[in-house]
Amino acid sequence: MKTTIKQSPLSHHKIPGKEESAMTHQECTYRWTGIDKQSYLLSLILFLIPFVGAVYVLANVSIYLLLTFIGVYVLVNIFQAGACVGCPYRGKFCPAIFGVYFSNVISSIIYRNRTFERRFFNMNANLASITSIVVLLFPIYWLALSGWYYAVGYLVFLTAYWFLFSSFFCLKCSYSDTCPGGRTAHKLYKK
Ligand code: SF4
Repeated sequence: MKTTIKQSPLSHHKIPGKEESAMTHQECTYRWTGIDKQSYLLSLILFLIPFVGAVYVLANVSIYLLLTFIGVYVLVNIFQAGACVGCPYRGKFCPAIFGVYFSNVISSIIYRNRTFERRFFNMNANLASITSIVVLLFPIYWLALSGWYYAVGYLVFLTAYWFLFSSFFCLKCSYSDTCPGGRTAHKLYKK
């Protein structure tokens, strides 16, 4: 899939983690267009339907289950905030997957003076990946208890969301050469 990368003298950005010597040209940051931003908001519907549905089901089973679910989601945002350090979109609009937009905000505040370090990035990116898998799988058992079709619908929506997100946003994102999800998307679509 071919995507158009807008280049501008004002948007030059060296992707963290790339060796200076390996850079044969100056990297440029893709600038999200109005259409991209509207598409991002629309795509979030595919995520919010299963997420809000899971919140509703868990809240009806136990308030502690709900608090655990929300608590792990907050953890995802906190770990992702560490992985946001060095991202050219931090502090601006970014297409945060699974709605983890707070990570962008948190990172701009608590890691304001921090610069990209590979070890710190890897640790936070791995923890964010693990906790996001935990939070996404967490409600399935209780959804299935409420009706198998809820669990199936939940997985179908999330899978559709991931494919839409990775094919539309990851291939344009200037941080996708660094972030694990973006690298997976590049391999998947062989860009
Ligand atoms: S695009 Fe990803 S890494 Fe960049 S600020 Fe947004 S959430 Fe963080």
